[in-house]
Amino acid sequence: MRIGTGYDIHRLGPERKLVLGGLEIPFDRGLIGHSDGDAVLHAITDAALGAAGLPDIGELFPDDDPAFAGADSAVLLAAAMGRVRERGLEVGNVDLNVIAERPKLKPYKIAMRDRIAAILEVEPERVSVKAKTREKLGAVGRNEAIEVHCVILLEERSR
Ligand code: MG
Repeated sequence: MRIGTGYDIHRLGPERKLVLGGLEIPFDRGLIGHSDGDAVLHAITDAALGAAGLPDIGELFPDDDPAFAGADSAVLLAAAMGRVRERGLEVGNVDLNVIAERPKLKPYKIAMRDRIAAILEVEPERVSVKAKTREKLGAVGRNEAIEVHCVILLEERSR
């Protein structure tokens, strides 16, 4: 077994779609980023790459490379998972803390879990999405950003 951790934070800004965990979520602002800004998928990508001993997301998909401008982070995660599988590894489970003051994410947790499981090509039971707030503290608490922490377990392929 191999374990990895991932972290990401993106600022919220106007005139952006909010894309989080591979879902479009109705909100008056979205995450600012070179790609679609999906901090959930970025944290998972980095956790999986880290667990597999591969280069991090910034090295594989540089944010100054025009090829990744506006990129769908689901495509980037799927590509990273291809690299992980080449190493004979599969996802055991993924556990996420998604920290946002607003929008309230509780109504989206199940859909987000299912979407992430589909991107990872695993059963939904292997993915956990926990929605938290920052209790109004700091940048996330002021609703200026959304922050994500991820832990992933990879297992050598036997199934
Ligand atoms: Mg990011």
